[in-house]
Amino acid sequence: MPAARGILLYSGGLDSVIAAKVLFAQNIELTGFQCILPFYPPDFDPETLPSADLARRIGLEVSYHRLGRDYIDLARNPPHGYGKRMNPCVDCKIHFIRKAAELMRETGADFVATGEVVGQRPMSQMKHMLNHIVKESGIEGRLLRPLSAQILKPTIPEETGLVDRARLLNISGRGRGIQMALAREYGITQYESPSGGCLFTDVGISRRVRDLFDHHADIDALDMFFLTIGRHFRLTGEVKAIVSRNEKENNEFGKYIDRIDYLLEPQFRGPLIALKGDSDPTAIDRARALMARYSKLTGADYRIRLLRRGQIVSELGLPDPVSDIELEAMRI
Ligand code: SF4
Repeated sequence: MPAARGILLYSGGLDSVIAAKVLFAQNIELTGFQCILPFYPPDFDPETLPSADLARRIGLEVSYHRLGRDYIDLARNPPHGYGKRMNPCVDCKIHFIRKAAELMRETGADFVATGEVVGQRPMSQMKHMLNHIVKESGIEGRLLRPLSAQILKPTIPEETGLVDRARLLNISGRGRGIQMALAREYGITQYESPSGGCLFTDVGISRRVRDLFDHHADIDALDMFFLTIGRHFRLTGEVKAIVSRNEKENNEFGKYIDRIDYLLEPQFRGPLIALKGDSDPTAIDRARALMARYSKLTGADYRIRLLRRGQIVSELGLPDPVSDIELEAMRI
């Protein structure tokens, strides 16, 4: 019988690594599939991730999928709601599995596998939710959870004998003792922290995500990446500002200058300020006052260039700096 072929939803976390090892032990041909959240810079190379290094060490070839607008639209309006913060975990999981299923169909693989464990996470991994995710992902019968397979309904590859159900596992619950013991057995000592959620679960980032989703209709992956750099301020209902904090962040703005709605570029030593939104005089005045604050300068002699999508549109002076109270009121 030809070896079974599977697509493994891979993250570099302990569970997905153990899932890979359990399937490799049956000589199953596996391709890892890793989704890259839009918080990463557009020019980010996933091969530099620690998870990529781990995949190489366990012999797993990984196909990377950068999440774009369809994912952002889903995160903005997730049918199953959010977790503790702005993390749309259930819909995120379904989306990842659907994307992995596309690869399964393209490559003629037999199933999609995940490292999910029954009862491990409060919302997305309760047994009824795992069953619901199977239905929603559209690959009923072909979604295999090797770590909990023996306590779940058999899948088609198990029923047809492509995958030996007896050699899959029956783990359930929040503890990770069994997985850690297996990792030691397999000689795996480094893996991504099991407790770490993604940036949607971060207090500061989720506040910025909420603000972005609430105020702007047109959001792309660059907007999501920009949430991870600079200081963020809401200038008006339509316009937000991001003040760079160092040379590295200046360079990031520089790379995408023709995609930034408005950029304030000081002709003196000061931060770059990127604006998102259709700007108006109030927003520009507030952004200039932020510039005065962060450059610790003031006066019409200090000139700021205003660029719209990389093109200079005017040159302005520096007003008085924004006060402490105004600054805190605008901070996102
Ligand atoms: S923690 Fe983040 S990446 Fe993981 S399922 Fe939830 S939203 Fe998606």
